Amino acid sequence: SWFGGEDEAPAARGGMFVEVVVNRAFDQALTYHAPRKLVAGIRPGVRVRVPLGKRGGLVTGYCVSIGLLPPEGLDPARIKDVAEVLDAVPLIDARMLELTRWMAGYYLCSWGQALDAVVPAGVRKQAGTRIGTFLTVPEDARRAWLDGSLEKTLTAKQAAVLDVLCQPDGGMLTVSDVCRRARCGSGVVDGLRKDGVIHTVKRRLSLEDSRKEEPDDAPPPASAESPTPPPTKPKLLLTPEQQKGLDALAPALQGDGFAPFLIFGVTGSGKTEVYLSAIEQVVARGREAIVLVPEISLTPQTIRRFRRRFKKVAVLHSHLSDVERHRHWRSIAQGEVDVVVGARSAIFAPTRRLGLIVVDEEHESTFKQESVPRYHARDVAVKRAQLEGVPVLLGSATPSLESWANAERGRYVKVDMPSRVEGRPMPAVELIDLRHEKNMTGGLSDSLRNAMHQALDDGGQVILLLNRRGYNTFVICPKCGDVVKCRHCDVAATFHKGRRLLICHMCDAERACPPACPSCNAAVLHYGGIGTERLEREVLMEFPFHAARRMDSDTMRRHGSHEEALAAFKAGDVRILLGTQMIAKGLDFPNVTLVGVVDADVALHLPDFRAAERTFQLVAQVAGRTGRGDRPGRVFVQTYSPESPAILHAARHDYESFVTQELPQRAGGLASPYGRIVRLVARGRDEGRVKGYLDELAATLRARAEASVRFLGPCPAPVLKIKEEFRFHLQLRCATAPPLRALLRDLSSPPAPPKVELAVDVDPVSM
Ligand code: ADP
Ligand code: ZN
Repeated sequence: SWFGGEDEAPAARGGMFVEVVVNRAFDQALTYHAPRKLVAGIRPGVRVRVPLGKRGGLVTGYCVSIGLLPPEGLDPARIKDVAEVLDAVPLIDARMLELTRWMAGYYLCSWGQALDAVVPAGVRKQAGTRIGTFLTVPEDARRAWLDGSLEKTLTAKQAAVLDVLCQPDGGMLTVSDVCRRARCGSGVVDGLRKDGVIHTVKRRLSLEDSRKEEPDDAPPPASAESPTPPPTKPKLLLTPEQQKGLDALAPALQGDGFAPFLIFGVTGSGKTEVYLSAIEQVVARGREAIVLVPEISLTPQTIRRFRRRFKKVAVLHSHLSDVERHRHWRSIAQGEVDVVVGARSAIFAPTRRLGLIVVDEEHESTFKQESVPRYHARDVAVKRAQLEGVPVLLGSATPSLESWANAERGRYVKVDMPSRVEGRPMPAVELIDLRHEKNMTGGLSDSLRNAMHQALDDGGQVILLLNRRGYNTFVICPKCGDVVKCRHCDVAATFHKGRRLLICHMCDAERACPPACPSCNAAVLHYGGIGTERLEREVLMEFPFHAARRMDSDTMRRHGSHEEALAAFKAGDVRILLGTQMIAKGLDFPNVTLVGVVDADVALHLPDFRAAERTFQLVAQVAGRTGRGDRPGRVFVQTYSPESPAILHAARHDYESFVTQELPQRAGGLASPYGRIVRLVARGRDEGRVKGYLDELAATLRARAEASVRFLGPCPAPVLKIKEEFRFHLQLRCATAPPLRALLRDLSSPPAPPKVELAVDVDPVSM
């Protein structure tokens, strides 16, 4: 039977019933029985091992609730036992359980999938599942030690070992712990084990006690990456505008309650100083703050700004090892950290007394996770702030249209910071119409090149943005017109000159440069389009006496190279910094007097309703990198579409005009922020099967959908094939979310055919 031979109903045996959520695609919590011996250790938020499926193999799940009685209608005789409790302390608290439940409902994933996103893999691996070997003293030996009879039979070193192990806290020590404390070699311990005086046990390490297996001299987590400089730097005196912004936040910072703000401040308006001051107030009340920044803004410069002001800062970035991540997680959970700074997943930091959430650069699309659960950290931040009853600050010079609309609708309080600190002017932006630049051979127009010479001669520094890596962006046959594509994807391969290879930017597959056209065998192929690698070469030829550095994902592969390049630029050893969007955001270098946007149109014509918004943001953000010091900055924007509103308004630093022009374009198509969008993507190797399935699914949904739901597609995805898999997609749009959620809760019929996967993306940010 389920109960190991006992015939009693489980309730009668003094156990409890627990609801357990496992990481599977299905959504219900499962009911299990916790036998009496496990009841003491079981609480919501701990992980348990439970049998699942016909064979009853054990899987790990989260206990989400506990009750004395089984749910009604469930036959107690069919309820299986929890096999094991993995954590001594819950990995997540009640509010985070609530948050994950909300995520599952909102993002149409299962609760277990949301839970696994919240507890990082590193933490799951480190806590609970790792087994350590510990020394124990059996009860009779312990008594003999305490009454002195055992000591007579032992050597001095053996006695020292017993002394350590019989201390009140000696319950979870490893051989090396004991040897260190007793100052003896492991031979002494081995001898005692052979004599049966001490035993070894294997135990899982829990969140609490795995601390003991770290060396005593491990640095405290708050300063794990670099020594914390003492907070000596005098605080900046806030400008009147910054003070006004802070005053607007003050009641919320002192009170208890949800309060969302949109901090709309131009680049260089000093938003970060406002965040720091706001966090200071919250920390002074004994609360903690979470600050989300895009991963690429998590530079040493940013981190230093926080470390200078706060002693206990934990930085969570994607390069942390499992052990480091676990250590941070634990020290945050134990209340040892005041400020958590991190990228997307830091929104799940297990703070104990959260007082404030800040999302800097809230418009950044990297806050969206592109795998299950496909959450947006900014939106989760607002929800978490609501559940915890705390203020949340969303900051940007170029807010997402969603946040802007929320401010207009009165859901967020807008705080304006329209001018730069110390009265610095916004940089002058000149548009260069590439249609009139007839004799350009490379990426730089005459005017941009001349401006570079001038800026460099005046001792300034230059940033050049080109959001395309590689040397040539396509290889085309002039005879038949075919473009050389990746063998596995439906995209043009990029020529990387340094490696003499064609590389696919979708799947990283490499292929040799073909000696002749793969389609028609013509002997001469044309290499065209300019990427950062080629731009670098052009810059080196044109400015041989000024050090230049390229920053893109090709040159920044090595860990630490990003920091190194920025440090060299800051020190002035590098005069020209060129690269992809990596260099467009957040950098604050006072000596940059010129920014050149080599091709502003890169994102403008993508088949995505956010193409204009993205273009505006990129141009406005990179323009914001100049004129941040005493000297005014200039910006040159090269484009074939100087009359496009995105580029025109970005050149004038005029966000509001851009929004006023762009929002009505969205309304008609029920695009965000006027409509809610769910994108369904089917993919698989068999094109016909993928298409057939999505067609059938669309027809089924159409038949069930309310009239308010609009269907776009199904049709081939913008990139039809990636890594041999064909993709078709279907967008559902509706003015409100409930009809979509009701429609999409159950996608099990028609069932996806074998080898076809369906992805559900709620509030998609890329198409
Ligand atoms: P933003 O995040 O809005 O782009 P930052 O907070 O990075 O702006 O500030 C821009 C620059 O101005 C930084 O170098 C910062 O040190 C400086 N700064 C900010 N506030 C002040 C102030 N009150 N007085 C002087 N300099 C300031
Ligand atoms: Zn490819």
